[in-house]
Amino acid sequence: MSMSKISTIQPTLSLAGEQAAQSVLQKLGGICVAIAILAMVAAISGAGSEYPLLFLSIIIAMFTLGAISYALPYYSGSAGIRNNGIMFKSMTNKGTIAWILGIALTGFYIIIYWFPWMFEGLIRIFDPLSLLLTNQPANQWFMYGAFYTLAVLTMGIRFIGRYRHSRYHVIRTISVMFFQLGFAFLIPMVLKKLNEPEFYFSYFWPLKYNYLFPSDVSSLMSTGHLGVFMVFWGAMMTFIATPILTYKYGKRWYCSWVCGCGGLAETAGDPYRHLSDKSLKAWKIERWMVHSVLVFITITTLLLWLNSYFKGGILGSVSGAFAQWYGFFIGAVFSGVIGVGFYPIMGSRVWCRFGCPMAAVLGLFQKFKSRFRITTNGGQCISCGNCSTYCEMGIDVKWYAQRGQNIARASCVGCGICASVCPRGVLKLENGNEAGRINDKPITIGNNNITVHL
Ligand code: SF4
Ligand code: SF4
Repeated sequence: MSMSKISTIQPTLSLAGEQAAQSVLQKLGGICVAIAILAMVAAISGAGSEYPLLFLSIIIAMFTLGAISYALPYYSGSAGIRNNGIMFKSMTNKGTIAWILGIALTGFYIIIYWFPWMFEGLIRIFDPLSLLLTNQPANQWFMYGAFYTLAVLTMGIRFIGRYRHSRYHVIRTISVMFFQLGFAFLIPMVLKKLNEPEFYFSYFWPLKYNYLFPSDVSSLMSTGHLGVFMVFWGAMMTFIATPILTYKYGKRWYCSWVCGCGGLAETAGDPYRHLSDKSLKAWKIERWMVHSVLVFITITTLLLWLNSYFKGGILGSVSGAFAQWYGFFIGAVFSGVIGVGFYPIMGSRVWCRFGCPMAAVLGLFQKFKSRFRITTNGGQCISCGNCSTYCEMGIDVKWYAQRGQNIARASCVGCGICASVCPRGVLKLENGNEAGRINDKPITIGNNNITVHL
């Protein structure tokens, strides 16, 4: 075979060559994102007040084009996961660009929560869209919801291209995009337009903790039949659907298919999934933190109901203070500022892993009463460590794979990336019989022998 023939079939065997071809598109994407950011800065300074629709269109179009340019290389060539150079890029390996992005995201959240007036000019350019969807001018939460949804949709397109060989990943990504756009953005906004309560049907207690607070329950109930249905929906999802679905499918039905926090982590957070801390210390901290948050919100909710029952006579303002502290530290600081702002430094599931009380509840069911497990064919494992590296929840998957032990960890969100990056097909996500789900008699395969631990 002549050299020209080789170059026709396979232009280059060099990973660097392939990356160079991608980087042209990615540079174009970078220019689009830079234009969008410039337009945002101009809008913040008030330049968009005359032409809000023009500024809004430029920002949305440039962010979308930027993300698509970033995604396109994943749709060309053969399907399959490529993590080329991920450990060498400043953006994905805690370099200067990652720190700048982390600080910018954190700053964005701090302003949104506590100094929204600083974004007044930017918020105003969302008025045309807000008036269309809600009949009201935009506020910082409308703007935030719009950006959040845009991030899930555009980075979802990238994610689908990146994992397009896997039906599981394609379908679950379409699912999170659907729930974010429909259930977490359009439906609540249209409800507002109809003068109904702004209700998020895809969030339940304890994640949306106030949905079972007595004040919210009575205010919803007072709005009529739809409000009563909302209360019923929230309680039914928390107390009936969550245990049943988690028993059948594990926590993945929510964390990787429905939840908006998980949706953002899986799409916009995908480039950072390998940054999760895999140490035993992190696992210990995770268990303490996530269950403490669950205990805190459970006590707060019970206190509020007791207070409501006794008409404030016994607990006075204590329960209200609990709720306020929870809202500040967990609802704002943890889930927003740290949860998303620290993506480029601590990985994409910091909130899901260390702070989300819904993840804690789902995890308890998954650990003790579920059919879900990841089975491991230990004999095939070559200890490459890909699975552990790309587990966003910091699970040392390889440790289980080497022992041929099923993985039934409370924190696993069933994203399935560990199975997808395994070059040997060792791992499989399954919903089987409960019997034998936790096999604590693993097999160790050594150089000279195979040991069965009886
Ligand atoms: S163990 Fe696998 S399926 Fe579970 S969270 Fe980690 S990568 Fe996802
Ligand atoms: S990715 Fe597969 S082969 Fe590599 S360590 Fe994990 S289970 Fe073993």
